[in-house]
Amino acid sequence: MSVYFDLIFDIPVLNNSNVHSYTYQVDDKNEAAVGKRAMVPFGRRDILGYIIAERENPPDSIKIESIKKIRRVVDKEPLFDTKIVEIARWMADFYLCNIGQALSIMIPSGRRMIVPEIPESDEEIEPSLSISDEQYNALHEITSSTSSDMFYLYGITGSGKTEVFLRAAQHMLNIGKSVIYLVPEISLTHQTAQMIGRRFGSLAATLHSGMSPSTRLAEWVRIRRGEAPIVVGPRSAVFAPVVNLGLIIIDEEHDGSYKSGNTPRYHARQVALRRCNLEGSPLVMGSATPSAEAWKLMSEGSIKRLDLTRRLSGGVMPQIKAVSLAKTQGCLTKELKEEIRVTAQMGKQTILFMNRRGFAHFYHCPDCGWELICKRCSVSLTWHKSRGRCICHYCGFSQSPPTVCPNCGCLEAGYSGFGTEMIEEEVRRIFPDLQIRRIDADTANKKATDELGQIAEKRNLEDTLALFKNGVIDILLGTQMVAKGLNFPGVRLVGVVFADTGLHMPDFRAAERTFSLIVQVAGRAGRYFPDSKVIVQTLRLDDPVISRSCALDVSGFFDAELKQRKALNFPPYSRIIRFTIRAKDVKRADTAIKQLDSLIKPLIIQGIDKLGPAECPIGIINFNHRRQIILRCSSMGPIHKLAKEVLFRYEKEKDVKTYLEVDVDPISML
Ligand code: ADP
Ligand code: ZN
Ligand code: ZN
Repeated sequence: MSVYFDLIFDIPVLNNSNVHSYTYQVDDKNEAAVGKRAMVPFGRRDILGYIIAERENPPDSIKIESIKKIRRVVDKEPLFDTKIVEIARWMADFYLCNIGQALSIMIPSGRRMIVPEIPESDEEIEPSLSISDEQYNALHEITSSTSSDMFYLYGITGSGKTEVFLRAAQHMLNIGKSVIYLVPEISLTHQTAQMIGRRFGSLAATLHSGMSPSTRLAEWVRIRRGEAPIVVGPRSAVFAPVVNLGLIIIDEEHDGSYKSGNTPRYHARQVALRRCNLEGSPLVMGSATPSAEAWKLMSEGSIKRLDLTRRLSGGVMPQIKAVSLAKTQGCLTKELKEEIRVTAQMGKQTILFMNRRGFAHFYHCPDCGWELICKRCSVSLTWHKSRGRCICHYCGFSQSPPTVCPNCGCLEAGYSGFGTEMIEEEVRRIFPDLQIRRIDADTANKKATDELGQIAEKRNLEDTLALFKNGVIDILLGTQMVAKGLNFPGVRLVGVVFADTGLHMPDFRAAERTFSLIVQVAGRAGRYFPDSKVIVQTLRLDDPVISRSCALDVSGFFDAELKQRKALNFPPYSRIIRFTIRAKDVKRADTAIKQLDSLIKPLIIQGIDKLGPAECPIGIINFNHRRQIILRCSSMGPIHKLAKEVLFRYEKEKDVKTYLEVDVDPISML
C-alpha cells in the first residue's frame, strides 16, 4: 500500500521541465490511487488535483513533517492511466503549457455520474451492403497494417468513406481492440453517433462538448472499464481512455475544429498521431478535400493514400456552375431562383450556404466611407435586423444603428453586403409556399449558460436537421454547419450564395479554406440520384480558386497552392509558432511585445525567421489590444527550443496585466 502520492494541478505555472507535481500523504480512507482526482490543501485553500503517481517514500528534497494529507478522494474508480499521463506530458511539452493544464482539458470535469439515456432509434438497421472493389482495397490496406501506419481515405464526397471506416472499426472490435472515431463539431457528431449506435449498439460511446459534465463522466467511465470499445466524438474524444487502442479514425481531416482555440492549443490530428505511435496502432484520416499538410505528406508517401473515386448509392457528382452576382439586386441571381423553383417542383430539396451570419455585413456611409466599428474590437459590426441591433461577432457588443453618418452627417448611411438573415428574408418573400429553416450560430448554438439550455439548443439543431432529412423542410439555409459531411438524401440543389467572403482574409490559408468549403458544400447535392446542381455565386468569376473548386479539381488546386506556399515559405513548407500579447492598456501591450521581442532577438539563429512584432490583423478584441510575433523555420525543432527558453524567461519578468498566448502550428492568423 502506497503512502505517498504525486499530484498535479491546473494552475498556469510554467517551469522549464514542465513537470510540476506535489507530494501528499494518503487520505484517511485509503482511497487514493493513480488516475483519481482528489481535493488537497494547497496554500490556504483546498484545490482539485490529479493523482499521477504513487511512491513508497517522499522525495529526498522534502521534509516528511511538511507533507500534507490528501483531504478527500473525488472518484470511486480511476479516470486515467499512465498512458494518458504520458500524452499529457507530451502535450505540455509540445504545446508549451503545464501538464496540469493539459490533463484538465483531457479528463471530464463532472463529479457525479449521470448515465445517458440511449436514444431509441426508429430508423431501420442499415442493410448490409456489399462493398465496392475500391472500398475493399482500402479496407484491406487498413486492416492488414500491423504498426502505426498512416492512411488517408481520399474520396469524393459521397463515395462511401464512412462504410470503410465502420468496417475497419468492426474489424478492430472483432480482434478485441478499441477504436476512436473523430468527427468535426456537434451536428456531424450526432449523425455519426446515430449511425455507430445502430451498428454497434451499446458497445458505442459518445463524447462531446454539448454533453453535461456528469453525462460525459459516465460515458468516460464506461469507456475506461472497456464496456464501450468504440468511441465517437469531436476533437477532445481523441483523449478517450479506451482499453487496447487499435485504430484512430479522423473523418473530415481538413476541418478547422480539430484545432483547439484555447490553451493548450492542440490539434487532434497531432495528438492522434502521437497516441497511435505510443500504442502502435494505425491512424486513418479521410476527406474529399485534404488539408495542404496532409496533401503534401501523401504526395511524399509518408501517408498512404487510398482512393475512392465513385459515388455508390446511385448518386453522381453535381453539375457545378459559377454565376456572377455583379448585376443582381438582392442576394439571389436569376439562375439560382430558377433552380430553386425547379427543384421544389421536382419535390426535391435545396441547401443555401452563406458563410456569414446576420442580416448585412457592414453598416457604412457611402459618402465618406465611414463604417460602424465595435467600440471594444477593431472589427465592423453586423446588422441583425430581427433584433434591431448591430452586433459584434467577436465580443457580443451591440448597439442600435445610427440614422445619420456621425462623420459627415449624410443621411444615406446604411447596410451593405449580406448575411444569412437577409437571405432568409428574401427567400421567404420570393417563395412564400416553401418551408425554409435557417441554422447558424444565432439559431443553433447560442451560448447557453446552463446544462438544460445547452441541451435545448442542441435539440433545436438536431430537430432542424431531422426535419430536413425527412423532407419536411424544402430549403435549409445556413453557415458552415450545413457544409460539413451531412448526408441528406433529397438534396438536388446547392446554392453558394456568396463564395468570396473568405477569400481575402489576411491569412495564408484563405484560399485553401474557400476551396474546401465550396467543394464540401457542393458535395451535399445529388448523393442518391443523378442530375443534381450547384450554383456558386461570386463577384470573381475569373479567380482560379473559384474556378478550380467549381471543377472539383483538388489536385490542380494543390499544385498551384503548394507552389505558392513554397515560394512564400509558409506551411506545410515551414512550421510556425505564434506569440500573441493582449492587454487592456495599449501602452502595456506595446511594452510587453517589445520585452518579448528583446528576449527573442538574441536567440534567433540562422534558419529562423521572425515576423513582427506587429499588431494582429484584428488589433483589438473586447478592449484587449493584441500584438504578435511569429517565428518560422523549415522544421519545428529550432523554434520550439527557442520558444521554450523565451517563455521561461518571460514568465519571470512579465507584467501581470498582460497576457501571453502561445500557439504552436497555429491555424488562425487573425
Ligand atoms: P462520404 O463519407 O464518402 O462522403 P458516405 O460514407 O456518406 O460518403 O456514403 C454515401 C452513401 O453511399 C451512404 O448513403 C452510404 O450508405 C452509401 N454507400 C456506401 N458504400 C456503399 C456501397 N458499397 N454500395 C452502395 N451504397 C454505399
Ligand atoms: Zn459619412
Ligand atoms: Zn466587439
